[in-house]
Amino acid sequence: MSYFPNVVFSSKDQSLQTVVPSSQLLDQSLHVVAPKMEFKGWSAQNHADSYLFMQRIVQAWKNSRFTNQYLIYGKINSNPFHWEMVPYQRCRTCIGRIVQQLRVLWRIVFGGVTLSEESRKIQAQSYKWLLNQSPEMIAPSGASNKSNDSFCNAETLARQWVITGKKVNALFNYAPIGFGGERLHFLVVPKEHRETFTDVTQEEYCESLELTAKLVDHFMEKRKIKNVYLLNKTGIDAGQTVKHWHLHVIFSTNTAQDFWGKMTVLKNILLGSSPMKKEDLARKVADLREELATLKT
Ligand SMILES: [Zn+2]
Repeated sequence: MSYFPNVVFSSKDQSLQTVVPSSQLLDQSLHVVAPKMEFKGWSAQNHADSYLFMQRIVQAWKNSRFTNQYLIYGKINSNPFHWEMVPYQRCRTCIGRIVQQLRVLWRIVFGGVTLSEESRKIQAQSYKWLLNQSPEMIAPSGASNKSNDSFCNAETLARQWVITGKKVNALFNYAPIGFGGERLHFLVVPKEHRETFTDVTQEEYCESLELTAKLVDHFMEKRKIKNVYLLNKTGIDAGQTVKHWHLHVIFSTNTAQDFWGKMTVLKNILLGSSPMKKEDLARKVADLREELATLKT
């Protein structure tokens, strides 16, 4: 995949780039990519740098009043691995919100909107201008207000944790996405209350990715994994349901599940999610705790 000349900005050594991609999940989407590198090749430094890149982009979106709602989406078996930063429009109605979420889901399943080389160049130019207007980086305050959301709730954590880290935990989702077979759906969650991506500190983000990489390595070795989806959402229009930032790590174990898993997302958007039975969840979490006991950050 050649990104040149659609690079918006890159690190000094070019190891990480922000580019306008050839296909977008929504208009004005950007990719943060380490050229020629798969997910497993990403170093701690790549993740730390990508955090700064992504913070810079969302700050620019926010400062220019373009949007403060977005999805950050990655697929493990994409090569090179990239994060797609997907800006959502603010929706006045519930229907508008659903339509926008369905549009993204449709494009995740069937492919994004292809851009002409000309449009890519124009978007890259306007992004260069926009980012020049924005400060390099505003460090998140790390300010933490306790909240009554479920990830600040001790009972939820006690019920769902599978790995406890230093600053973040990995939880098992009580309503895992998937269809048939084993459903492996984790949420990596900072221990402190952080509402949006801009509230998450670099240290928390890096540990989240470190934990994620360990989960990916583990299950790639122990199960037949077709793909792994990583996503985090900020803002109600982008589909953030719990106002405490969390990274979804969703494994699909076969092609049918890969497709029908996405259909479960469709059903969840339209009708809400289906929680597991209390005793099934307890059993699954106990098994995973035992299996993952050696994985720590
Ligand atoms: Zn919270």
